[in-house]
Amino acid sequence: MFISRPLPPESIISLDARITFAPAPELVEWARTIFIDEDAKLFNPDHFHLNSASIGVLWTNVANARKGHRILGQCEEGKPSGMMGKWGKARAEEQIIGWFGTVPNFIITIDALYAMECSDAEFCALIEHELYHAAQERDPFGAPKFSKSTGLPVFCMRGHDIEEFVGVVRRYGADATHVRALVDAANAGPEIANVGIAQACGTCQLRAA
Ligand SMILES: [Zn+2]
Repeated sequence: MFISRPLPPESIISLDARITFAPAPELVEWARTIFIDEDAKLFNPDHFHLNSASIGVLWTNVANARKGHRILGQCEEGKPSGMMGKWGKARAEEQIIGWFGTVPNFIITIDALYAMECSDAEFCALIEHELYHAAQERDPFGAPKFSKSTGLPVFCMRGHDIEEFVGVVRRYGADATHVRALVDAANAGPEIANVGIAQACGTCQLRAA
């Protein structure tokens, strides 16, 4: 597989770079032309709803790990949430608008140093893993949910499910997702390999906590 992919800016990966986050509109564009657009090179219909979603992506050189596992990416809802108080939320929102010009539906953060060193397949698997978290709400019958007022998809975060695992492993195999040993040992048991993917993702680890 050959795809040309955007790399993080020099300013963030140089040795003397300050700890920072840098918006990566080029990475959003790339993800759309590779995975999301109808004529995308590695089109995946599972991401169809993201045609109507706004996505903000950040590169970061902030090293992140949890329970000894390096975190390579994370996906969150764009709107700041959690115990921040009114000023905290407004401050976070201002920062987000400064980066993206708007509060996007989803924000994905990618480890810039990993992006420099990983293979194309690993990079694609990581981005798609995060895209899988950026989901569309479903109704009680399992059908995709749309807003009655706008007609647009209702977005939500999705945790790990078999669908996601199968999607990523089907497209990239066990090697790109660092689950080869587990897959070999467990004879392709999806739930076990799922853990292997989750270890590299901050969103998954927060959910596992
Ligand atoms: Zn994840």
